[in-house]
Amino acid sequence: MSTHRIAVIDKELCKPRKCNLECITFCPLNKSGEKCITLSSDDLSKAVAVIDEDICNGCGICVKKCPYEAISIVNLAQEWSEKKIHQYGPNSFRLYNLPIPKKETVIGLLGRNGMGKSTILNILSGIIKPNLGRYDNEPSWEEIIEYFHGSEMKSYFEKLADNSIKVSIKPQMVNLIPKAFKGIARDLINKYDERGIADDIVKRLGLENSLDKSLDELSGGELQRFAVAIAVSKDADFYFFDEPSSYNDVYQRLEVAKVIHSLAKEGKSVMVVEHDVALLDYLSDYVYILYGQPGV
Ligand code: SF4
Ligand code: SF4
Repeated sequence: MSTHRIAVIDKELCKPRKCNLECITFCPLNKSGEKCITLSSDDLSKAVAVIDEDICNGCGICVKKCPYEAISIVNLAQEWSEKKIHQYGPNSFRLYNLPIPKKETVIGLLGRNGMGKSTILNILSGIIKPNLGRYDNEPSWEEIIEYFHGSEMKSYFEKLADNSIKVSIKPQMVNLIPKAFKGIARDLINKYDERGIADDIVKRLGLENSLDKSLDELSGGELQRFAVAIAVSKDADFYFFDEPSSYNDVYQRLEVAKVIHSLAKEGKSVMVVEHDVALLDYLSDYVYILYGQPGV
């Protein structure tokens, strides 16, 4: 079976100004005159290493030689390398598959950090348009839909492309909410209460006494539960929750899980990224386990 290399450079860790360019010096292909590893710029203060995945043989010498552990190399079956869903840029993380949302069902996503769980939610909720790995030549919606021909995802992306499905997402970074919105929690949740259920959800999540607090006074747990309440209160067909239990204790987590699961009972499609395995087990009808190498 032929293989393909994924070479990822961690741009935060790669420091050509401080190292001795060991990756370039020791790469056997560079030694033989090829340009397998180069620098992105002549200015070392701005440069990062760039690996040509088409000629890299996957030997891993650069991984061992880099003093800052900035390089990851993964050998991949060729058939997978041709099925990319998304890639952010050259020598960066890429995603090879997508879970399928199902009506009346909670799908759980489990995997280590850096495995692409949030990228999946961002793609399925329409925040990120999947580029099929073509980060330098983004495909049209027609090409994306054609790519998914023959799979259940085709009709999903058709609807996403023409805005005929409504999605609601609870983002991962709830601490950013007070930066994006000013005012009290009551005003924010009322603004998004398209289903007229906010009062009930607020009660179930134990937030009645926090309604008149300014958003920047809320604790992490209160913010998290308000973010869940807002996402649930929106009128949508598909609901996505990115780490909905963070900052909360076990009892609050359980209430969050019950509120989310009630959406599926109402016929909605629900997808949840969660690190709490016990909660995910309690909450989900199906669990997808993401495998791969974090950040790769
Ligand atoms: S990958 Fe490592 S060895 Fe290569 S330039 Fe970056 S820091 Fe230096
Ligand atoms: S894995 Fe080997 S061939 Fe590929 S860039 Fe690193 S040293 Fe060069």
